[in-house]
Amino acid sequence: MTHKIIHLNTDILKKNEIIAAENRALFGKYRILAVNLLSSPGAGKTSLVVQTCTRFSMYAKFSITVGDLQTEFDAKRIAETGVPVVQINTGTACHLDANMIQQSLKELPLNATDILFIENVGNLVCPATFDLGEHRKVVILSVAEGEEKPLKYPPIFQGAHCVCINKVDLLPYVDFDVQQCRDNLSRICPQAEIIECSCKTGEGLKQWHDWLTRQWTTTINVV
Ligand code: MG
Ligand code: ZN
Repeated sequence: MTHKIIHLNTDILKKNEIIAAENRALFGKYRILAVNLLSSPGAGKTSLVVQTCTRFSMYAKFSITVGDLQTEFDAKRIAETGVPVVQINTGTACHLDANMIQQSLKELPLNATDILFIENVGNLVCPATFDLGEHRKVVILSVAEGEEKPLKYPPIFQGAHCVCINKVDLLPYVDFDVQQCRDNLSRICPQAEIIECSCKTGEGLKQWHDWLTRQWTTTINVV
């Protein structure tokens, strides 16, 4: 029985990898930097997307694919910024897969996109397993959670190119030790850029945008 389940999973992941490679080729063709945003529910993925589109749309053309089990609340919030957005309702699936992304790309203006944000389903576990064809993974961790999260969910942090410690405006009101969190992150994902930010006050968002711009330049605009 166990044996069968393992085979099934391998098969699903193999199919996913093939479609992820197709997505990656499409991003290359259209010179799009694809960024997969990962976090627990409520850490601020949608807020980060909304703030980025509101503040930095004069520097880059953004498009968004947003995943949730149900509802279109997040897509509506994002659409208010005027940026193209597709909502994917995954039903019962607690992660996005490469095929869902491929479908969403048919609805987005790829000709007019520099950076695609993929807002994954709020979940720190299985999104780590599914390659979407993205160039960068960003994990968002809010100070309303715990600084031990990187130790509890290592796979998702190990794959991160950047970790945003969000909601730093709440630091006076919560028991969150930023230095401890940074120490945990440097153990689990020493490669990741760490950005302390607040989508409410705007703190750290310039650093976030600078990081994004650098990723676009080094990945897409390579001479
Ligand atoms: Mg959201
Ligand atoms: Zn899942």
